Amino acid sequence: MSRDPLERPAAIPLSIPSLEGNAWKYVKDCIDTNWVSSVGAYVGKFERQVADFLGRKYAVATNCGTSALHISLQLAGVQSGDEVLVSTLTFIAPANAVRYCGAWPIFIDAEPRYLQMDPQRVEEFLNNRCEWRDGALWNRATRRRVKAILPVHVLGHPVDLDPILKLARKYELAVVEDAAESLGAKYRGRMVGALGDLACISFNGNKVITTGGGGMLLTDDEAMAARARYLTTQAKDEPLEYVHGEVGYNYRMPNLLAAVGCSQMELLPKFLLAKRRIVEDYARGLAGIPGIELCAEAPYASSTFWLATIQVDPKVYGHTSRELCAHLRTHRIESRSLWQALHLSPAHHGAEAVEQGVAERLCQRSLNLPSSVALEPAEIAHVCQVIDGFCMASRETGIRASKIA
Ligand SMILES: *Cc1c(COP(=O)(O)O)cnc(C)c1O
Repeated sequence: MSRDPLERPAAIPLSIPSLEGNAWKYVKDCIDTNWVSSVGAYVGKFERQVADFLGRKYAVATNCGTSALHISLQLAGVQSGDEVLVSTLTFIAPANAVRYCGAWPIFIDAEPRYLQMDPQRVEEFLNNRCEWRDGALWNRATRRRVKAILPVHVLGHPVDLDPILKLARKYELAVVEDAAESLGAKYRGRMVGALGDLACISFNGNKVITTGGGGMLLTDDEAMAARARYLTTQAKDEPLEYVHGEVGYNYRMPNLLAAVGCSQMELLPKFLLAKRRIVEDYARGLAGIPGIELCAEAPYASSTFWLATIQVDPKVYGHTSRELCAHLRTHRIESRSLWQALHLSPAHHGAEAVEQGVAERLCQRSLNLPSSVALEPAEIAHVCQVIDGFCMASRETGIRASKIA
């Protein structure tokens, strides 16, 4: 068997962090002062920086984005046996967080243009499949209470949120935004992560900014913020005698990681410009390649362009997205397909879905392209050339060549 070229690090990886600026200085400060763990000045500073950036009142740093989601759902009042509407086209973390609460996901299909939770499917489910009774909304088929909506802003692009917020108000549902991939995105001029009752961000290594691993919960509700702090620190009522009021969690972010986060927040505006420039370069480089379409921004949106994403039409391009992925791999270019639609995931077998196959089709056709903020224009041009060179139409008919000439 031939060696997999990606056993070596990819020459052009999908998305790697950029730890420039003050990261080293702030981490050294933690070590020099011995404030390395879950108490320390950088945690509060990082929380303030992110809250101010988003225009939210309160932020609580956590050890990862998934734990921020878990706590957010609890604060939203989601209880065992409830149901939560979740995007079906997303990384699995938000659906798992629903299950951690003992609740059940209802998977909502994506709209085909921007890959986000489709507000029409949300409306269809709430209006047609539920009933209002005893001051709550009930799923008629399962007889479970519907408690919250968890829209995921996937790939850095905002969900069309206004219709969803309106439905949530109508049916008294909490909205928890999963903005894990979308720190810095805007929806109709408003910051993503500042629109739901609660919002969550991830600082995993591949996200818009990173702390190595980490997350944050955001809200404007003082009581919710206080409770989030309580639950993420083992629900300690009496710190000297170790009296715990209930079962809490160890979900806090260490000062060492918050220090990295502070340095990353200083770089965020630069990172967002870099991501936008990367997608503009891809748009130029991929223009005219038959069967390749770069995912664009909705008129209502300003995306973080977390990962540049293309749709491959195999009939026109001559290869499937998976074949293109494998081809890029032989050139040591890392690309990645989208997540399996969660209503098809063995992990969530049997969950109800409101879908018409859109997410599944998007998953089959889509590919994320290298999008690290330090990516050079020449590297993007190279990726585009490799994609162009693999296109059947270009090679067989010379369409591409004649277009360039
Ligand atoms: C990364 C991610 C998460 C989880 O964040 P972690 O910090 O890895 O726990 C949640 N939701 C989405 C959409 C993500 O992409």
